[in-house]
Amino acid sequence: AKANGRSDFQFFIEAMRDEVAERVTIEHELKIALEKEQFVLHYQPQIEPGARRVVGLEALVRWQHPTRGLVFPGDFIALAEETRLIVPLGKWVLEEACRQLKYWHQAGYADLHMSVNLSPAQFHDQSLPALVRQVLAKFDLPAGQLHLEITESMAMSDPEENIIMMQALADIGVKLALDDFGTGYSSLAYLKLFPIDIIKIDRSFVKDIETDENDAAICEMTMLLAQKLGKQVVAEGVETEAQLEFVSRIGCQWIQGYLFSKPLAAAVAGNFIQGFAG
Ligand code: C2E
Ligand code: CA
Ligand code: CA
Ligand code: CA
Repeated sequence: AKANGRSDFQFFIEAMRDEVAERVTIEHELKIALEKEQFVLHYQPQIEPGARRVVGLEALVRWQHPTRGLVFPGDFIALAEETRLIVPLGKWVLEEACRQLKYWHQAGYADLHMSVNLSPAQFHDQSLPALVRQVLAKFDLPAGQLHLEITESMAMSDPEENIIMMQALADIGVKLALDDFGTGYSSLAYLKLFPIDIIKIDRSFVKDIETDENDAAICEMTMLLAQKLGKQVVAEGVETEAQLEFVSRIGCQWIQGYLFSKPLAAAVAGNFIQGFAG
């Protein structure tokens, strides 16, 4: 220990204090952001290239911070989850996404679906099915056009227990998508038992699909399995024509990625939907 200088431990404490202070600040700001409605949804189109149509959109939350600008979910979702602020935030996302879907349905695009991400805290909240029913009723939406995304690792964390919640949601008629597929080590047995309709192949497998034989094999196996089990597949993160060609060749019909569009503000997404088939 140093007599006059500051010890490593003091530095450690100070660093911790800064980190805690930073977290408390962000936590406080998140609460205010909810009250002041500083959140906004962007929508990324999901495309069926064969039919030249937009089949649906994924709602992705952003935080319009008064001084930091547009903040992406990677910088606040984890903290919102830890503090459970994700539950009210997730409720807002669900409502806002459904409000927007209704608007597009009424504008003449009645076949569109909306995909909404669920966080673990939301998914483990026993009141989730009641909330979903309530929001569908509020906007008078057909349940089948709301797709709820849960990550593969969330689903696999306690599969027996999670099947009960998945079934409660499936009973409402909403569709369930297994997000980030391939990263969460699903056992094939559970894949058969989960009441899910859609599998989303994670972007990490699509990225090098043309050059990495293992990634290509995983995508091909996922397609085969999905076809056998009667599930729809979405390829995420498709950025190039070559990737599109590859995933199309192995039978994937629904594509999401920068090749077609980045996530867009609602009005811009509306123009995209209108212009796409044209
Ligand atoms: P995710 O659900 O896997 O969403 C896809 C992410 O990949 C989005 O990032 C999207 O912008 C990005 N992406 C889509 N296509 C491409 C592409 O071609 N190339 C590349 N490089 N990226 C692409 P984003 O919007 O930053 O969201 C990140 C994650 O944050 C999401 O991953 C999701 O896990 C979470 N998230 C976003 N919105 C919500 C929400 O409302 N609730 C919850 N619980 N989580 C959310
Ligand atoms: Ca997702
Ligand atoms: Ca994903
Ligand atoms: Ca992801």
